[in-house]
Amino acid sequence: MGALPPETPLASIRSISRFAPRLKNLGLVTVRDVLFHFPARYEDYSEIYNIADLIPNQEATVQARVDEIEGRRAFRRNLYVVEALLSDDTGSIRAVWFNQPYIRNILGPGRVFNFSGKVTQSRTGEIHLSSPTYEAANSFGGTKHTARIVPIYPETRGLTSKGLRFMIKPILDEVRPLPDPIPADILGRHGLPDIMAALRGIHFPTTLEEASSAKRRFAFDDLFYLQLFNLDQKMALADQKAPAVALDLPFVKDLLGHLPFALTLSQKQALWEILKDLEAARPMNRLLQGDVGSGKTVIAAIAALSAAHAGHQAVLMAPTEILARQHYLTFRKFFPEHEGGVALMTASDRRLYFGHDLETAVTKEKAAAEALSGRAGIIIGTQALIQKGLAFKDLALVIVDEQHRFGVNQRAQLVRQEAGGKREEIPHFLSMSATPIPRTLSLTLFGDLDLSLISEMPKDRKPVATKAVGPAERSRTYAFIKDQAKAGRQVFVVCPRIEPKAEETPDDIQKLEMRSVKEEFEKLKTKIFPELRIGMLHGKLRAAEKEKVMRDFADGKTDVLVTTAVIEVGVDVPNATVMLIEGADRFGLAQLYQFRGRVGRGEHQSYCFLMTESDAKNLGGRIKAIVSAKNGFDLAERDLRMRGPGEFLGSAQTGMPDLAMKAIQNPDLVKEAREDAAAILKTDRELSRHPSLKKEMARFTDRVHAE
Ligand code: ADP
Ligand code: MG
Repeated sequence: MGALPPETPLASIRSISRFAPRLKNLGLVTVRDVLFHFPARYEDYSEIYNIADLIPNQEATVQARVDEIEGRRAFRRNLYVVEALLSDDTGSIRAVWFNQPYIRNILGPGRVFNFSGKVTQSRTGEIHLSSPTYEAANSFGGTKHTARIVPIYPETRGLTSKGLRFMIKPILDEVRPLPDPIPADILGRHGLPDIMAALRGIHFPTTLEEASSAKRRFAFDDLFYLQLFNLDQKMALADQKAPAVALDLPFVKDLLGHLPFALTLSQKQALWEILKDLEAARPMNRLLQGDVGSGKTVIAAIAALSAAHAGHQAVLMAPTEILARQHYLTFRKFFPEHEGGVALMTASDRRLYFGHDLETAVTKEKAAAEALSGRAGIIIGTQALIQKGLAFKDLALVIVDEQHRFGVNQRAQLVRQEAGGKREEIPHFLSMSATPIPRTLSLTLFGDLDLSLISEMPKDRKPVATKAVGPAERSRTYAFIKDQAKAGRQVFVVCPRIEPKAEETPDDIQKLEMRSVKEEFEKLKTKIFPELRIGMLHGKLRAAEKEKVMRDFADGKTDVLVTTAVIEVGVDVPNATVMLIEGADRFGLAQLYQFRGRVGRGEHQSYCFLMTESDAKNLGGRIKAIVSAKNGFDLAERDLRMRGPGEFLGSAQTGMPDLAMKAIQNPDLVKEAREDAAAILKTDRELSRHPSLKKEMARFTDRVHAE
C-alpha cells in the first residue's frame, strides 16, 4: 500500500491522464472515484488449462508460448485479422483477433503469455481462442486480466473493462489507505471486511466468496448511511416547532357530512392520525400511502381545510399541472361552501374562489398577493411554482402528491419565504403516495416518515378485469372498445412515446414495440374508430392545450384519449372504463400498475388490456405479475422477492444504489443497520467522534439532495 492521496485527480497521473476525459464521462474524476467504480460482474479465469484439455464454448485461460504470429487483411476489406499459433507442453491452438493489428507487435514469437477467452469451434470442427485477453505470464504484482477472477466493468465508449483493470490495479496498490467510515466494532459484529480489504475484494478478488463479502460490505454501507440520514432528519425535526392547528371536530364532521360518500374505515383512521399530528406544536412528517383510487385526495383536502379553518394556510403540490387542476376541482366539487379562499396556481392557469363566489381567473401577481396576504387559505399548484418564490402569511401544512422526499431544509425554505421571514416554526408535512412499497422497503427509504396506510378500497369498487393481448387479438379488442364507447364509456390508449424517429421503418417500430401517440392517434381517428371522438395528450403539447385535452376528456367530450405516460399519476376520470396499454413490455411494473389504476374508479366494470407485439403467451414476468396481482401491496411484496426493489420502483425513483437495493431484500440487515445508526447518533449526534463517517455522510447527503 502506498501514499497516493485518494483525492488526486486522475488527469494528473501520467499513465492515466489520456483516459481522463473518458473517465469523466463516467463521472470519475479522482482516484477515489475509480476505486468506487465497481465491477458489474466477474469472469472466472482463475484455473489455468492445458491446451489439450480445452473444450468448445468454455471460457478459459491457457499459459502458452507464441510460436507464430501474422496479420492479414481478410476478404472483406474492412477486416484485419491477426492470427497466432500458441502452444504449451500438451498441445497447440490458434488464437484470432480482429481489427487489432498492433497485437502483432506486442506478442513476440517465443515469449510466454496468459491468454483468457472463449474457446470457439469453427465450421470445420477445429477449435481456436477468439479475441483472448493476453497478459505477460509473470506480470509484476500479479495478473489483472488473466489467470484469475477478472472483474468486468460497466463500459463506456472508448473505455474497456481491460482499460479499467489496467488503471485500477496499480491505483489499489498505491493509494494511501482510506480511513474506514464504519466503526470497526460494527464491521466486526456483522463479519464485514474493512474498507481497503473490501475495495481489493470487489475489484480483484481471489475467490468469488471474497467478492461477495466485499459487495455485502458496500451494500451495508449504503443502508447504514441511509438510516443515519433518516434518523438524523427525524431528530432534527423533533427539535423544531410547528404551528399547532386547533382541531375543530364539529367542523370536520360537517365537511364529512357534505361528501357524497362515507369514508372507509382506513380513510377515517388515516385522517384521524393526521389531524392529531397537526394539533401538536411538533412538525408532522407523515407518508399517506394507499393504493391507486383508495381516496387519498379527500383526506388531504380535509387536512388542508382544517388548517385554513384554524386561521393558517396550506399548500398542496402536485407533480403536473393536470393533477394540480384536478385537485383544485376536487375542492370545488366537494367543498363549494368553504369560507376561505382556494387558489390554483400553475404556469398556465391561475384561479381563485371564495366560499360561494364563482371562481375568477387571476393574474400571477394577484394569486401571489392573495397567498401573501393570507386571504387564500389553500394554494394548489405544481411543485416548481410553489417552491420557486411564492410567499405565505402563515403556512402550517405542506402536502406533496407523489413525491416522497421533502427535507427539513426545503420546508424551512418555504417558511422563510413567508412575510416577515424570520419565523421559528416550520410547516407540517404530508406526503401522498400510491406506490405500494412493502414495509421493509419503506422503513429503509422513508425511515424518517411516519406512515398512515389506506388499506382498503371504497366498498363498491369492482376489480379491473386485466388481460394480456397479442397481435392476433387486436381487432377483437378494438371491437370491444367500440362497444364500450357506444355505451357511453371512455377509453385510455397509452403508448410508450410521442412520435417515431425519422429513420425508423414500420417494421422497426413493431419490433421495438414502440408505438407512438401521434401515429396511433392518426390511425385510430381515420381507420379504426372514425365515428368516435379521439383526443391526444403528450408532454410536448403546450400547457394550455394539455389542459383543454384533459378537460374535454374529463367532461366526456372525447371518447378515446391517446396518451403517453403523462397520464400515469393520479388522473381521475370515473367514467373511463378501458385502459389499453401499447407495448406493455416497455413499461415498468409500477407504471403498469399506475396506468391500470386510471380505470375502475366509478360504478362501471372496467378493463385493462396489456398489448404486446410478440405472442401474448411469451409475456414477460412483469405482465404476468400485473395480470394476477390482487392489489399493489401484494404485487410489491411479490416483486420484491422476485427481482428486488430496483425493478419495481426503478432506481431513479428511489435513488438507491443497486447494491443497497439488493440488500433491502435482507430485512435483518436493514434492521441491524438501523439499530447501529441509532446507537451512534444517541451518543454522538454530531458525529464529532466519528470524523470519517461524518465526512462520508456529507457526501451521502449531497447525493440524496442531487436527486
Ligand atoms: P388516489 O388515492 O389514487 O389519489 P383519489 O383520491 O383520486 O384516489 O380517489 C379516487 C376516487 O374515489 C375519487 O373520485 C374520489 O372522489 C373517490 N372516493 C374517495 N373516497 C371514497 C369513498 N370512501 N367512497 C367512494 N368513493 C370515494
Ligand atoms: Mg392521487
